[in-house]
Amino acid sequence: MILQPIAKVAKSALKKPTTLEYPEQKEKLADTYRGIHKLDMRTCINCSACAKICPNQTIVMVEADYETAFHQGTATKIFPEINLERCLFCALCEEVCPTECLVLTKDTEFESFDRRDFIKRPEALE
Ligand code: SF4
Ligand code: SF4
Repeated sequence: MILQPIAKVAKSALKKPTTLEYPEQKEKLADTYRGIHKLDMRTCINCSACAKICPNQTIVMVEADYETAFHQGTATKIFPEINLERCLFCALCEEVCPTECLVLTKDTEFESFDRRDFIKRPEALE
């Protein structure tokens, strides 16, 4: 009777750990894995389509300065700000973007101890 639990403990002690020592050890992600967004503010036409299609209200349009074409100074328009805590990484925002200026990258390393870091201003997505 007592041998069965002992055998179980011994078996699991001999098993390889199922967790990794992050960040020294990292899991190999599938090619289809989606990470943080990248935004090209110069080609964004400020249409808000990404914010409208987002199923989880992850994107809000906020005012931000951007560099105008041919480096003729800066102007202010509305661009997507993304709250990564709410993101489902579904890529609907990327699909709907008419100028392909908003894309999801393979970068999944945006961990932080401060929740405020997950709200990405447009400039931080460039
Ligand atoms: S990937 Fe999906 S959930 Fe995340 S911001 Fe885009 S539309 Fe919203
Ligand atoms: S990122 Fe794309 S969909 Fe979003 S406001 Fe800019 S152009 Fe429109």
